[in-house]
Amino acid sequence: APRPARPEPRPGVLAIDTYVPGKSGRPGGGKVYKLSSNETPLGPSPAALAALHAATAKLETYPDGRATALRTAIARRYGLDPERIVCGAGSDELLSLLAYAYGGPGTEGIYSEHGFLVYRIAILASGGEPVVAPERDLTVDVDAILARVTDRTRIVYVTNPNNPTGTYLPFDEIRRLHAGLPPHVLLVIDGAYAEYVRANDYSAGLELALEAENVVMTRTFSKIHGLAAVRIGWMVAPAHVADAVNRIRGPFNVSGPAIAAGSAAIADEAHMAAAAAHNSEWLPKLTEGARALGLAVTPSVANFLLIHFPDAPGRSAEDADAFLTERGLITRRVTAYGLPNALRVTVAGAEANTAFLAALGDFVRGQH
Ligand code: PMP
Repeated sequence: APRPARPEPRPGVLAIDTYVPGKSGRPGGGKVYKLSSNETPLGPSPAALAALHAATAKLETYPDGRATALRTAIARRYGLDPERIVCGAGSDELLSLLAYAYGGPGTEGIYSEHGFLVYRIAILASGGEPVVAPERDLTVDVDAILARVTDRTRIVYVTNPNNPTGTYLPFDEIRRLHAGLPPHVLLVIDGAYAEYVRANDYSAGLELALEAENVVMTRTFSKIHGLAAVRIGWMVAPAHVADAVNRIRGPFNVSGPAIAAGSAAIADEAHMAAAAAHNSEWLPKLTEGARALGLAVTPSVANFLLIHFPDAPGRSAEDADAFLTERGLITRRVTAYGLPNALRVTVAGAEANTAFLAALGDFVRGQH
């Protein structure tokens, strides 16, 4: 074959659409309320902030490459074996490392229709082929996933609760998914929003990751712990999966300040409880508020909700987004997730939530 005139990425790389984060500002500046990235309005735990600041006193030394203090703190909090925990620079990194370790050329990775876009990026970046399973009622469909398993399938990602829909699979459905997968297929359960869920039939999947040889659960410090800027995620996995990921991760992938902040954050149960309580108060208020304006809202168990708009000029999600942005209310368009007629709205602080409902009311009543 003729050699290219310049380096060419391997097949699949240029098929990746770059991940586009939610907006964080407003054209022309001005006060904004950010309800676009599922961040917590409470911010991080004061203990985590103090630990982060203290850790910046010594920046010239490398951190502990195994993040022992952080793994120990997580293990203590959830009653786990620290050897089965791996930490990453955000759970994004771990989701990618799992695809690099278990996917690759000639393999397929499955995720669901409205699943988190990082799965697709990770599968393609590994050289594998992404396979999309349709959802039912904006909820992960176990049968649709199982129907797409082939001899080439190596990894399956499910987000529970799902982003951007806010829906969840009860634990018996996760078990049914696991039971239907061949034992060599890795099931990755992404529990980025697990701490917010109040439903009795929900479980983040810890038990399955502990008892099965092919299940991993990932979690993040970016959401309820309020440390998105610091980039910390973790996973609990069978020992052989933790070992594989440890072999391919960067040797110092979690920074010293991140290890310090995360260790303090996970121990501050009162702060987490306050964030969860705030969410439980406002999630129904926002849901009912939007419904009272005649808009359909997908029932959510997470810290965000999906609001649907009519596909009509002047009333569409695109128009609502423009109107809200003009008012300094930043929400998330989810067209890239196949949902062009909806906006995803994060449960924010009381002032922002109130301003959002007022502006949404003005939009719906045509006061624009
Ligand atoms: N999984 C899901 C479902 C998410 O929504 C996010 C954040 N957008 C992540 C994982 C990644 O979070 P982080 O890399 O900050 O841990």
